[in-house]
Amino acid sequence: MSDIIQLLPDHVANQIAAGEVVQRPASVVKELLENAIDAGATEIKLLIKDAGKTLVQVIDNGKGMSTTDARLAFERHATSKIRTAEDLFCLNTKGFRGEALASIAAIAHVELKTKQTDQELGTLLKIEGNSIQHQDVVTTPTGTSIAVKNLFFNIPARRNFLKSNTVEMRHIMDEFNRVALTHPAVVFDFYNNDSETLNLNNGNLRQRIVAVFGKKINEKLVPIEETTDIIKITGFVSKPEFAKKKRGEQFFFVNNRFIKNGYLHHAVINAFNDLLPTGYHPSYFLYLNVPPNTIDINIHPTKTEIKFDNEQALYAILRSTVKHSLGQYNVAPVLDFNRDATMDVPYHFKDKTSVSTPQIQVNPDFNPFEQENKDSSANYNRPKVAQWESLYVDTDVDEKNLHNIDVDAQIVNRELFDASDYETKSKTHQVHQKYILSVIKSGVVFINQNLAHQRILYEELLRKMTIDDITSQQLLFPLELVFNLFDIGLCKEIQSDLESIGFQFSSITDDTIILNGIPSSVDQNKLQALFEELFEAIKNEIPESSFSQLDTIAKSLAKSLAIKNGQKLNTTEQEQLLAQLFSCKEPNLSPFGKKTYITLSSEEIQLKFDN
Ligand code: ADP
Ligand code: MG
Repeated sequence: MSDIIQLLPDHVANQIAAGEVVQRPASVVKELLENAIDAGATEIKLLIKDAGKTLVQVIDNGKGMSTTDARLAFERHATSKIRTAEDLFCLNTKGFRGEALASIAAIAHVELKTKQTDQELGTLLKIEGNSIQHQDVVTTPTGTSIAVKNLFFNIPARRNFLKSNTVEMRHIMDEFNRVALTHPAVVFDFYNNDSETLNLNNGNLRQRIVAVFGKKINEKLVPIEETTDIIKITGFVSKPEFAKKKRGEQFFFVNNRFIKNGYLHHAVINAFNDLLPTGYHPSYFLYLNVPPNTIDINIHPTKTEIKFDNEQALYAILRSTVKHSLGQYNVAPVLDFNRDATMDVPYHFKDKTSVSTPQIQVNPDFNPFEQENKDSSANYNRPKVAQWESLYVDTDVDEKNLHNIDVDAQIVNRELFDASDYETKSKTHQVHQKYILSVIKSGVVFINQNLAHQRILYEELLRKMTIDDITSQQLLFPLELVFNLFDIGLCKEIQSDLESIGFQFSSITDDTIILNGIPSSVDQNKLQALFEELFEAIKNEIPESSFSQLDTIAKSLAKSLAIKNGQKLNTTEQEQLLAQLFSCKEPNLSPFGKKTYITLSSEEIQLKFDN
């Protein structure tokens, strides 16, 4: 047989690679703005026509390029920002891959004008499909102007895949806002279809946030500030009373780079705890500075995920810092009944020389009733009882048992679960196949089995997505699910998140998803419905990409997978549910903010008899 392998021609390889970097006009906006920032610009103009489909142009007053550099800039892996692999670990520029301009030039008509300060005249380049069509000398101000026209002119399929102008514009605004919010000292001018849409003067961060989101936001901001050995946090969160129905303005910037992180998001939300009414979301603008060698910036060109070395410690610090600031601004209740001692970081964390990681991992197998059962049997053997019992049994045995009691009692007290509140002989009962009733010292507690299980699954999923290893159940026969094009698009967007919790995709075509592995907790007969609910949740919850989808995915899956009301649970299952619920970080609320349990105190019960 003859040989069949060929090297792809450059222009094809470039087009394929370009698809990674440039998904839509907003990707071009991001890359060009970041290049301008990296070039040290103090003034940047962004011009958009036809939602970027016709034109994206960025004009900066940065350091410009020499003629040779200008030509070289469009080669793949041509960058002035790193020289060695080690440089990757101490990045202080936005770009470093040297791919953006090459990618953009592969799929659009590009016109570049650039001049350095010490040059009389600048350089003009016109590039199409990666080849330089025209080069000239021009009069142009110091800095760089790059105009990207007719995006995807040579890939009609990609061009057709672009969404409506409204949607594409929204993506552009998202990217623009992210850059503008990280560089309040830079002046930005935004022209949409020839009219000036936004003019941002230089100022401090608060002024920038106000300039971007409107005057009203000013009074809503609570400043956040904390410095420890491993992180410096600055920025703002919104006061709880201004929380919104829609998640909109939620931003994390790590070392001045916009990132998404469901785990840290959870830390902030957790700090708000009961301060928010159900279904409301706080805004936040949080700037985290960490030593560059403690993070792993995903080298993938378009990803905004990031991995931290000490995520758990960061979680605790972030949560307590936000909580503290809310408290200082008199917005947190004086008494925090839901305080979870394991989550608290002493506020003088910064004065400590070494940082120990707070324990926030919970043991899903922990069953407080195990302890309590032992405890109750211990109770049974307490001296008073033992006195009459000693009539029948050998006292030696009793003494040995007594010795054990102490040990057990100590274990109970140390547990996360507030065991002291539970009657020693606590039993659970399922009521109307909906509630678990359990007796506690102060009265009784009714747990909603569905909502409680949602909370348990939600935290478990978030944990899996952010820290745990992947566990997956292999399917004997791959499973095919059919969806419309839009949902398939969504699925691709969240594919890596789904993979992190155990879904394995063998392929995703235009209308079919083929799975060859699923999380072990998922029933494969319910997959179609599960995905439908998930896509629905994402469409309804997420305002165009400005927020980590991890949280929505976890919530939606938790809701779909949770034990339903009407399902009978045996005693062990009931007890497990209880134990798992109370080893959650936020046991009292479902992921959607509903109460997972209510308590009825003995006094309240008594009162009902008294009346
Ligand atoms: P990267 O930003 O990853 O280095 P790019 O393809 O975005 O890769 O840019 C390639 C190079 O072109 C940059 O390293 C930089 O030297 C130069 N460059 C790009 N845009 C500008 C600009 N606006 N001003 C000055 N130099 C630029
Ligand atoms: Mg770049």
